[in-house]
Amino acid sequence: MSVMSKPFAGNIALSALLLINVSACQTAVPPASTTQVAANANAHNNFNSVLWYQTSAEFQASTIQTYRQATDLLSKAKNDVRWTVWPQTNVTQLPPAIIVDIDETILDNSPAAAQDVLSNAQFNDASWDRWVSLAKAEAIPGAVDFVNAAEAMGIKVLYISNRACSPRDGSSRPCPQKDDTLRNLKAVGIQQISENQIWLKAEQADWSSEKESRRQLAMQNYRIIMSVGDDFGDFLPNVKKDITPAQRSALVKQYQMHWGTKFFMLPNPTYGSWETILSQPKQQYLRGF
Ligand SMILES: [Mg+2]
Repeated sequence: MSVMSKPFAGNIALSALLLINVSACQTAVPPASTTQVAANANAHNNFNSVLWYQTSAEFQASTIQTYRQATDLLSKAKNDVRWTVWPQTNVTQLPPAIIVDIDETILDNSPAAAQDVLSNAQFNDASWDRWVSLAKAEAIPGAVDFVNAAEAMGIKVLYISNRACSPRDGSSRPCPQKDDTLRNLKAVGIQQISENQIWLKAEQADWSSEKESRRQLAMQNYRIIMSVGDDFGDFLPNVKKDITPAQRSALVKQYQMHWGTKFFMLPNPTYGSWETILSQPKQQYLRGF
C-alpha cells in the first residue's frame, strides 16, 4: 500500500491567490469554504474513481458477481486433486487453500481515499496507518460469504497483503497493523481466522511488495486452488514495475483460461500497479480517434 501515491494537479491559481491575500493582510488563511472544498475535490485526480467506488451499483454488482462465480467453483476445485492455480508438484496430499489479498479485495478502504480527496491530499503513510489502526473498514460486497463458505468446506484462506508491518508510536506491539487487520477482518464477519493466516509485507525479511515469495511459501504447504485480488501483482510475479501496459495485456491473454476459474479480479480504479507502471506524461497512453 505504500505505493499508493497519487500525483494530482493542485489548484495552483487558488493557492497563489491565498498567498497574496495572506501577505497583504497578514491574517491567517481562513478555513476552506464549502465551495473551495468542492473545487479541490473536483480537481483531485482520484475524484471520479472514488465516487464510483463508493456510490455505484455497478461496483457492488461486479464484486458480488465475481465472488458468486468463485463460490460456485469451490467444491469442484477442492475435489479435483490436480486443480492448482500455479504449477505445483506432489499436490495430491496437500490440503486445499485459497490466497486472497486484503485491501480492496476483502476490505473496502475507500474512506481513506475519499478523505484524501476531501482534504486535497495525496496518499501518505501516516494517514494510512491511522486508518488501519481504526479497524473500521467495511467488507467488499460478496467477500465475507465467500471466505466463510471456503473455511466451512475445509479450505484454508491465506491473506497475503501489502499492508506493511511497521513500528507505531506508543505501541510496543511488533506488528500493530497485523493486530488491527485481524480485528477488522473479524469485525466484518469472517468467522474462522487467526493471525497465522495473515501474511503482511515486511513481516519476514523477504516479504516485499512482490508477493511471489509468499505465494511460493504457501505452495510448499497447500494446494492453492484460487487466487483473489484487485491488482495484477496479486496473481503473477514481475508485473508491478519495469513493464509496459502491452506486456501486461499479453500476460492477461496468456492466462486467458484462469480468469473466472482460478484467478478472480476485483475492480479498483482508485490505485494500483496499473497506474504506477505508467511513466510521465501519462497522456501518452490515451488513445483518441
Ligand atoms: Mg489490494
